[in-house]
Amino acid sequence: MAEKKVFSIYRFDPDKDKNPYYKEYAVDVEEGMTVLEALIKIIEKQDASLSLRFSCRMAVCGSCGVTINDSPRLACKTPVSSLKGKVIKIEPLPGMPVIKDLVVDLEPFFDNLKKVKPYLITKSPDPAKERLQTPEEREIISESADCILCGCCTTSCPVFWEDNGYLGPAAINKAFRFLFDSRDEGYEDRLSALGGIGGVSRCHHAYRCVVACPKGINTTYSIDMVKKLIVTGKKD
Ligand code: SF4
Repeated sequence: MAEKKVFSIYRFDPDKDKNPYYKEYAVDVEEGMTVLEALIKIIEKQDASLSLRFSCRMAVCGSCGVTINDSPRLACKTPVSSLKGKVIKIEPLPGMPVIKDLVVDLEPFFDNLKKVKPYLITKSPDPAKERLQTPEEREIISESADCILCGCCTTSCPVFWEDNGYLGPAAINKAFRFLFDSRDEGYEDRLSALGGIGGVSRCHHAYRCVVACPKGINTTYSIDMVKKLIVTGKKD
């Protein structure tokens, strides 16, 4: 049976509004409905002017990150039934410029990602066939490689809120994914970004990134391992 819930949604259209405001929408929530499905229902049945970014609806594309009851999460992976209270607050991801309503400008997030060179860097001569990796070597980066770049971790981070120049957990986790890849030879190429002023030393272990990650990635572990690599030169 459907249950009535109220969604209090952040609205801001820079072409029309002087200031942001919250608008409430009552929704009949069916069993198993996700926050994304509820938002799409609002757009289809009540207010087509609401802007929201989404695509795959199955926690693969990472585009529907929003703040749900004060925590950055993927809307498609959050069942409405998991949220307490009759009123559910939906806001854009924090720490990012708002383009309109729930859509933020992710440019600072992707700029930081680019700084860690998020791709395999090799310098030794190409092997005859391919660069092989054992299952054990792959296992080391397995969890970190699941990242879908949704931005929920980085936008949960109080250090990033203060300073978008801090690389943030997503970019550093991506650096871990390549630095600890047995085939990669790009440590020196990434060192100035990771060891510099916006690098790993800015992490103060708030752990909000770990809680926010919809893929269960321990981003703080990735940050600590990169810190250790820079300080000791060791990967274990
Ligand atoms: Fe999203 Fe997790 Fe990747 Fe951060 S580490 S961007 S929360 S999938």
